[in-house]
Amino acid sequence: MFQTTIKDKLIFSGKGLHSGKFVKAVVYPALPDNGITIKRADIPGSEIVKLSPYNVTSTVLATTVNCGSYKISTVEHILSAAYGLGIDNLHIDVFGEELPILDGSASAYVEQFLKVGIKQLKKKRKYLKFTKRIRIEKGDKWIELIPSRFFKVTFNIQFDNKIINEQKKFINLTPESYAKEIAKARTFGFRDEVEMLWKMGLARGGSLENAIVIDKDKILNEDGLRYDDEFVRHKILDLIGDISLLGYRFYGHIRAYKSGHELNNQFAKALLEAKNCYKIVELGEDYNYTPYKTLVLEPQGT
Ligand SMILES: [Zn+2]
Repeated sequence: MFQTTIKDKLIFSGKGLHSGKFVKAVVYPALPDNGITIKRADIPGSEIVKLSPYNVTSTVLATTVNCGSYKISTVEHILSAAYGLGIDNLHIDVFGEELPILDGSASAYVEQFLKVGIKQLKKKRKYLKFTKRIRIEKGDKWIELIPSRFFKVTFNIQFDNKIINEQKKFINLTPESYAKEIAKARTFGFRDEVEMLWKMGLARGGSLENAIVIDKDKILNEDGLRYDDEFVRHKILDLIGDISLLGYRFYGHIRAYKSGHELNNQFAKALLEAKNCYKIVELGEDYNYTPYKTLVLEPQGT
């Protein structure tokens, strides 16, 4: 019912997916109603920006946000981890043009957030209480929200590839289910696409260390998959990061078919703009969320 932040600052560093350069992010606890703010800390005088779906400037490869006159890429995994664990307020100082890709999942963020601890603040959360179904479509892709007393996601993907094929996953999201079932799922790509991106000077930091790479009907990563349906789980991870930009907690059942960053972002805007479909409320009796205290993590890579 109350807003949260982390107990102490955290540092994440590693290779950037786009540039392949070493980048660093320092994540600080923040005051109630701060939401998630971000800054290009390597550029003197750059401004602090509060993230919203309207900051998103590009959804190619990863989600990029506008930070004053500068851009910051690959924000969706840290945002997903924070939202998934129920962390409302953070400030992120980014040294470089993107956040580190780490292992391509939200695993390290979740692990460190839980290690440092989550602190309850004195101010109550505001929730969007949806009363009507909202749906957007683009070609054969669609995403919709159905009012619900719980935060649930059903995601369906379909690829013309033997390894992925069709995958469907339903999850009732709590901090615990997020950490166990979603956080460790890695991003993925196809070998021929990755090679094409490299030729174009893109995804320079992309490798088997931070993505599942599929070559026709073979997975190139030696250790294989972390979950049988890791692909659809990562799509849910990304969706949670993109939707977190709403800046509110909410309850609803999100159903998505073949959606990605671009449609997720359009959907987040559509949700905010559908003002006759929701009320902004503080936690009521009919809204329940499992406290994060019960969270127990399994070792990485299982
Ligand atoms: Zn992702």
